[in-house]
Amino acid sequence: MPKKSTLSRQQLQHDARTYIWHPFTQMQEWEQQAPLLITRGKGARLYDIDGNAYLDGTSSIWVNLHGHRHPTIDLAIRNQLKNIAHTTLLGLSHPPAIHLAKALVRLAPKGLHKVFFSDNGSTAVEIALKMAIQYWQQCPNPQPRKTQFVHLGLAYHGDTVGGMSLSGIELFQKPFSSLLFPGRHQIEAPYCYRCPVDLQFPQCQLACSEPLETLLQKKHEEIAGVLVEPMVQGVAGLLPSPPGYLRRLQELCRKYQVLLIADEVATGFGRTGRMFACEHESVSPDIMAIAKGMTGGYLPLAATLATDEIYSAFLGGPHEGKTFFHGHSYTGNPLGCAAALANLSIFKTERTLSKVQRRTPKLSSFLNTLADDPWVGDIRQCGYMVGIELVQRQHTKDPFPVLHRIGHRVTLAARALGLLIRPIGNTIILMPPLSSTLEELKQMVDIIKVAIGVVRASISSEHMSTQ
Ligand SMILES: *Cc1c(COP(=O)(O)O)cnc(C)c1O
Repeated sequence: MPKKSTLSRQQLQHDARTYIWHPFTQMQEWEQQAPLLITRGKGARLYDIDGNAYLDGTSSIWVNLHGHRHPTIDLAIRNQLKNIAHTTLLGLSHPPAIHLAKALVRLAPKGLHKVFFSDNGSTAVEIALKMAIQYWQQCPNPQPRKTQFVHLGLAYHGDTVGGMSLSGIELFQKPFSSLLFPGRHQIEAPYCYRCPVDLQFPQCQLACSEPLETLLQKKHEEIAGVLVEPMVQGVAGLLPSPPGYLRRLQELCRKYQVLLIADEVATGFGRTGRMFACEHESVSPDIMAIAKGMTGGYLPLAATLATDEIYSAFLGGPHEGKTFFHGHSYTGNPLGCAAALANLSIFKTERTLSKVQRRTPKLSSFLNTLADDPWVGDIRQCGYMVGIELVQRQHTKDPFPVLHRIGHRVTLAARALGLLIRPIGNTIILMPPLSSTLEELKQMVDIIKVAIGVVRASISSEHMSTQ
């Protein structure tokens, strides 16, 4: 007779396939598999229903910072529960949201003085876009023709219609082309690593920002804002921008009177080694969207920060219609705010930022041990955001055919070795929790190395057996 845990695992796996429609998942393939069931977590590790441990190489999809079951965040949520789990910011206020807004304004890039809460990154971006549009209608010198946006090629800004409209990933947009914003302009992503000319800073950033300058010269009277993932484009496959590029975007936005909107959903909260990625180039956006790491990976919470200038354009009498008519049922949820405050306190007590800064070069040196692998075409890193691009031949950088799903196979091999990661195409994305020890970071990289070898070996044996 099977053990009780086996029985309940099988039942759960059956019900998982029967009742859940998973995000970004081809369900036909999913239905053929027994899903991995995670039941516990501690620090940088996740445990499945049978007690097997896995390193959390995606930080549970880019959100976890200080590890799972951190006592400070656990306690903050329990304490908040003794008071209230949820109330609203529509017509009322509450202490956790007040304390958090004040703390965020103190940490945020200069000039961002107002915090508009919501509950996920896509929504925080959507709110930024709506704020920008309404701002230009109501600012002291109104320019209602400014209704269009600029975004980068391969950008990702979320899955709601606004964020999706300004993303540059065709695969995700294709069925929805009828819904996409009419006025959107895509400028080329600054592909440093494939740049044919080895231009050096500062010519390099000028060359990369040229398409934007040309566009703004022509169209700035119709453009409300430029939306950008500062310093590194995540879903694009982890593409860091050339040094000075973000700073240059800010200059151009100021010159042509266009709002700079920073999507710090992935990069915020220490991911790149600074609290916000904009700090690397002392950039102060007009609007900033934050989410993923905001509660340390505990609860869904997001915010859109704006300058006083933007905020004041929305002030007026109740009948003037200048109100920002936007809000969600769970906007500024108190449990989420309590978790976020605890998250920020850990940055201080554990000196998270200086630890990440100190360990980033060590992570680079671990990653360097992959450089000789014949399949590793490129290793891209920005703090604790890493992309390892797999190619057929290192010297020519020939991509693998998409159908071979090499990235996918490598992540499955890594799972069998105790590391959970996800690919984007054939780029392996590694996003360790910021609290990972050096040993854990090294283990993650070592497993990736072995996993690539395992897949290569299995492919050459497949090859032999078909000959
Ligand atoms: C994840 C992400 C989003 C969307 O956030 P969700 O919370 O998943 O809706 C938006 N922008 C960037 C840069 C992201 O990485």
